[in-house]
Amino acid sequence: MPKPAGADTLPATMPAPPIPLLDLLACPDCRAPLQRDAASLRCTGCGSGHPVREGIPFLLPQAQRGLQIEHERELEVRSHYPKGVARLLDALARDQVVLDLGSGERETDDPRVLCTDLRFTPRVDLVSDAHVLPLRDACVDLVLAGAVFEHLRDPFAAAGEIHRVLKPGGQVIADCSFVFPFHGFPASYFHASGEGLQRIFAGFRKVAVEVPPWLMPSYGLEVLLGEWLRFCKPRTEHDRRFLAAIRALGGFDARALDACFDQEHALRIAAGTCFLGLKQPRGDETVLPPPALELWHGDAALRQRYPDPAVLLPTLREDAPDTFVHWAAGEGRARSAALADWYAARPTVQKRLDPS
Ligand SMILES: [Zn+2]
Repeated sequence: MPKPAGADTLPATMPAPPIPLLDLLACPDCRAPLQRDAASLRCTGCGSGHPVREGIPFLLPQAQRGLQIEHERELEVRSHYPKGVARLLDALARDQVVLDLGSGERETDDPRVLCTDLRFTPRVDLVSDAHVLPLRDACVDLVLAGAVFEHLRDPFAAAGEIHRVLKPGGQVIADCSFVFPFHGFPASYFHASGEGLQRIFAGFRKVAVEVPPWLMPSYGLEVLLGEWLRFCKPRTEHDRRFLAAIRALGGFDARALDACFDQEHALRIAAGTCFLGLKQPRGDETVLPPPALELWHGDAALRQRYPDPAVLLPTLREDAPDTFVHWAAGEGRARSAALADWYAARPTVQKRLDPS
């Protein structure tokens, strides 16, 4: 497990001052910088004002302001990051910014992770709309969008916004419902196959399209059958026998059967699909530490071990291999003083407007 950036190193260089949240934010209407104005944020371009409640900026575009958003009963709330994502966060530097889009009930005090949702909850760092992100161009290293794309009325616009705010070399990890009932808020709009997600994220270099472990076919089947039982009103003896048969299926451990599907066939009937991709307009951009890239270019063994160093996370499978960013934060930092100094000099990110 790599140590957090800067641990156990004697900094030859002092870290730069923290990166304030305001340096990342932009007006959702015109994208100009914002400035603090008593209890609100004011746009330095179009002059629009945006409220700050309990220290949390509300940066919704004009059309969304005043909208009352209510969550429907959630089917399942994921409160933790998948293992591979959590390990990736450990390997990122202190100043690498992560956007958790549609974070819902997920909570993290990691200062680099901006949790954002359309709804104000005690857990979000920013209230915003995925279609119009209130962030500056190219300021984010990693975008996580778990169970959010099916709830977007224009997923193509949101993918365009993710592309805009990512740094060149930044990665997106987005999953979406596929064979799954209508659910959530404001609605289920577009459920996507793997092919569909590739269309939505056509502006990215594909790293993988896959079914993550928690969206395998059994989960969709369980929820579909549950919704069938919930809504179907039997009229005949035949109907009642059919519903009893569905109820009896609940006695089986369907999750155990996920092991009987390979990815190719799981992608045809999974509860959801996931796209992992890089913003690489030129084909070779990375968000890796420059001294680590230098080491990679000069070391044939490293190039062989990590042939595609820009990929931060190749898969959400439990057995995801380490990538070059893990090497840089662990072995690389121990091997190279220049790389250790680079990590030590990273500023922190301050995701609160008013850090206490
Ligand atoms: Zn503005």
